[in-house]
Amino acid sequence: MAFDLDGKTALVTGASRGIGRAVVETLAAAGARVAFTYRSSTDEANALCRQLQESGSECLVFQGDAAEISSAEEAVGGMLEAWGTIDVLVNNAGITRDGLMLRMNEHDWDAVVSTNLKSVFNFCKMAYRPMMKQRAGTIVNMSSIIGVVGNPGQTNYAASKAGIIGFSKSLARELGGRGITVNVVAPGYVETDMTAGLSDTARSALLDTVTLKRTATPQDVANAVHFLASPAANYITGHVLHVDGGLAM
Ligand code: NAD
Repeated sequence: MAFDLDGKTALVTGASRGIGRAVVETLAAAGARVAFTYRSSTDEANALCRQLQESGSECLVFQGDAAEISSAEEAVGGMLEAWGTIDVLVNNAGITRDGLMLRMNEHDWDAVVSTNLKSVFNFCKMAYRPMMKQRAGTIVNMSSIIGVVGNPGQTNYAASKAGIIGFSKSLARELGGRGITVNVVAPGYVETDMTAGLSDTARSALLDTVTLKRTATPQDVANAVHFLASPAANYITGHVLHVDGGLAM
């Protein structure tokens, strides 16, 4: 079956909640053995792993800051030791530190760029060699529609998410000859902790720009990741898949 991930191994970063969690659950339901990382929510991460194991899936959890290369080394290394392959890598970990440029400080810039963009370099770097040896693999990087269209108050976030797009297209060109695909998912407005703090006014202004007139669920995004990670998408690489209800077109 084109969407089956039976026998595949997958690693998802930043998956204790939100979109990452939905991606983990979806890949596991499709038959993959799933490893995931988280930064601080140990109880939620362990509960997710237990939930997968109880439903018959194998699961590995790694705590660490995705912005640190040591965290990628530990997760990819641990996964290879346990399962021997890394077939799917989903770089999902991300944060916002919004503010108009006038008030944005260096720390807000560095935190967002290193968590959102350097983390992608870190995990791709660690997956590069094993995927090359396997002559197979698929990488899905989580950008945002903000990286495509921009947003006032999000220069740091938009830069990190646009960076992911350029990075992914370049890596897709590097790895294509080895049968490895690299794609990007660019969600619009998804209901998670990340967007929970939006005011009603900001929320309704945002919804006005969405053609489908509703927000996305984490599952809407996870379905797109599942497609790109599956054999159904094996002739797609360097693509940016908008999952935004028609916000940008
Ligand atoms: P969320 O805040 O609910 O979850 C973010 C996850 O990333 C959490 O599990 C968190 O622990 C993890 N994380 C954060 N910093 C980390 C670090 N340094 N190391 C390891 N893990 C870390 O947010 P979400 O909405 O689920 O976002 C997931 C991804 O989707 C992010 O990359 C985000 O930019 C992107 N995205 C979200 C939206 C949206 O509307 N929610 C829209 C577009 C893109």
